[in-house]
Amino acid sequence: MTDGPDEMGGLDRDATDCRRVGEHRVYGVDVDDETRCAHYDTDRDVVAIRFACCDRYHPCHACHDAVADHAPERVPRAAFADPAVLCGACGTALSVATYLDADDACPACEHAFNPGCAKHADLYFDVSSVEFDV
Ligand SMILES: [Zn+2]
Ligand SMILES: [Zn+2]
Ligand SMILES: [Zn+2]
Repeated sequence: MTDGPDEMGGLDRDATDCRRVGEHRVYGVDVDDETRCAHYDTDRDVVAIRFACCDRYHPCHACHDAVADHAPERVPRAAFADPAVLCGACGTALSVATYLDADDACPACEHAFNPGCAKHADLYFDVSSVEFDV
């Protein structure tokens, strides 16, 4: 998709928000400069996920629910090597494989990630039925 200067046109609900983080835009509710949101806002909640359905970064699945008008789609295994996890601390987009392998910290800036996120990785990534061997 194109990266135009303003594509908020499709978002018309009051609570929604769009933040620029690094080179990316992050859509959600009360999104801050490091991708925290209304739902997850601890010091370590600094990742946003690119959902396969709309190709947009959201801080969490609840944010996707709030701003999207469609069911969320997880990142398919075939795309695990593509950048789909945005570190809000440094703005680096990590591949899913890198993120899942990253030991709860950003490999680029070493900012701690919330280890709880990895526990529900299956909400975001198609990890359910695969042997993960990266
Ligand atoms: Zn979507
Ligand atoms: Zn959220
Ligand atoms: Zn980082």
